[in-house]
Amino acid sequence: MSPTESRPANDWVSVAEQFAADMVAPHAEEMDRTDRLPAKVRAGLASSGLMGLTTPKQFGGADADTRTIARALEILATASGAVATILSVHLAVATGPIVDHGSQEQRQRFLPNLATGKWLGAFALSEPSVGSDAARLTTRYWPSEDGFRVRGNKMFTTSAESADVIVLFATRDPAQGPHGISAFAITKDTPGLSIGQRLDKLGIRGSETVELVLQDARLPQSALLGPEGGGFPIAMQALAGGRIGIAACALGVARAAFNAMRAAVQQEPADWKRATVARSYSELEAAAALVHHAAELRDSGAPFGNAASAAKLVASQAAVRIAYAGVDVAGPAGVVGGAVAARLLRDARVFPIVEGTTEIQELILGRDLIDHR
Ligand SMILES: Cc1cc2nc3c(=O)[nH]c(=O)nc-3n(C[C@H](O)[C@H](O)[C@H](O)COP(=O)(O)OP(=O)(O)OC[C@H]3O[C@@H](n4cnc5c(N)ncnc54)[C@H](O)[C@@H]3O)c2cc1C
Repeated sequence: MSPTESRPANDWVSVAEQFAADMVAPHAEEMDRTDRLPAKVRAGLASSGLMGLTTPKQFGGADADTRTIARALEILATASGAVATILSVHLAVATGPIVDHGSQEQRQRFLPNLATGKWLGAFALSEPSVGSDAARLTTRYWPSEDGFRVRGNKMFTTSAESADVIVLFATRDPAQGPHGISAFAITKDTPGLSIGQRLDKLGIRGSETVELVLQDARLPQSALLGPEGGGFPIAMQALAGGRIGIAACALGVARAAFNAMRAAVQQEPADWKRATVARSYSELEAAAALVHHAAELRDSGAPFGNAASAAKLVASQAAVRIAYAGVDVAGPAGVVGGAVAARLLRDARVFPIVEGTTEIQELILGRDLIDHR
């Protein structure tokens, strides 16, 4: 059986548990210290089959449901928020748009390699001065004799230095706002594409975050993903699904912080610590319910955008609060070099930012709940 072939959902949860315990947890401290993904963890991620969870079976993937994917990401994130984030980006916002909008040629070329993990995917939307308001992209493209040229810089691109495939967004004309934006699926050997800064982050270290430089990069006509001018909805659709993944990653970090806190309190109980554990447990369970609800809605085919935003908002905030409380409970030992409680707090703090900040989730939800009804 190939890694991604015909496993029941529970099997993928077991695969994630085993991979997290055997291959990820032992390297979590090293990844945090070195800010590098060890080659054996990258290879293990591929051979686990988890990188094919969102790919249809006809292209060698597992075609798993969202609940299974969310559970797998949560489990991985209890061992490492960085590895879980790499996988979430690969599955939801890199593979996802190619599954949903790729031509037959693009699907045949990219998906089998993304599913087996031979290739790693990235998603390049944000720019040095454009993040939340993605309709204002400044990276420009224009038609050329053999396809397109692209000029501009992309910022905060997860995995882009190691990625083999990048789903890239650029505008034909910034004056057209969202309607000017097109999506492209490009490979790392694209002429004119290079890596700029590699950012030294507070948390999820080991998940690289880099700048991409496009100096009149030469894209073939076949790189266009979806219709020209149709890139903005492709990005928004990918991010809506991706938010369930990032919420699951935040939930995993929250669970790791909770487990560490409870173990510490069991060793040295006190009433205030019991109360902290009780509060954290309630927040953890509330976040878990929202993540699972959003995944269930998506699997049922119902609109899930609001549930995904709510899950991302609540789970990422819960992760920060629970990890913060974990440091309180650990006391001074929680803040010294290499402390797990400190790493979990630094990891947690990234999730309210990635794939739409807390304020942007509030904006999305507020607009839908008030203005669109
Ligand atoms: C670790 C990490 C990995 C990332 N990976 C990727 C990736 O793979 N691909 C990618 O394209 N991007 C990625 N990003 C970028 C991320 O999506 C952006 O950082 C995020 O969307 C916010 O954009 P910004 O940084 O430009 O902040 P800004 O948009 O400038 O926002 C700054 C602050 O202002 C607030 N704000 C902005 N607009 C409003 C408003 N209208 N109302 C209220 N508050 C507002 C924000 O909530 C935020 O607190 C990553 C970021 C991080 C930190």
